Amino acid sequence: MASLLSPQHRDCAFCGKELFGRADKAYCNDTCRNNGNRERRKKLAWYEPIFIRQINNILKRNYKILTQQGIDEHGPKTVSRYKLLDEGFNFHYFTSNLSTRAGEYRFIYDYGWRELPEEKVMIVTNPKQVEI
Ligand SMILES: [Zn+2]
Repeated sequence: MASLLSPQHRDCAFCGKELFGRADKAYCNDTCRNNGNRERRKKLAWYEPIFIRQINNILKRNYKILTQQGIDEHGPKTVSRYKLLDEGFNFHYFTSNLSTRAGEYRFIYDYGWRELPEEKVMIVTNPKQVEI
C-alpha cells in the first residue's frame, strides 16, 4: 500500500506493470520500450494536422515550378505572373523572405521571386536562404 503513495512508485509506460529499480526507468523491459516507442510514434503521426501535409505539398509544387523556369548560373529570369499561376503556382506560400533596396523577395528554399510591375515576376536563386 505504501508504495502506491510513495513518489517512487511508477508503472511501465506500456504494460502498466509496477517498475522496480532505477528511478529513470520508464518501461519494464526492451519489448515494452519498443512497443511504447512504436505507439508514441503512431500517435504523433495520427495527430499531425492534415494542413501540414497540404501546405508541404504546395511548397513542393511551388519549388518544382520555380526550378523549371529555366534559370541558371547566368542570373535571374523574368516570367509572367500568369504563366506561373497557369502552372499551379501559389504565391501565398513560401519558406522565407528577404528585404532588399530593390524590393521584397519571397523564397521557397533557395529559389525565390520578386514581383515586378506589369504582372511580371523575377525568379532568382540564393543559397544563403537555405543556410540553417
Ligand atoms: Zn511493461
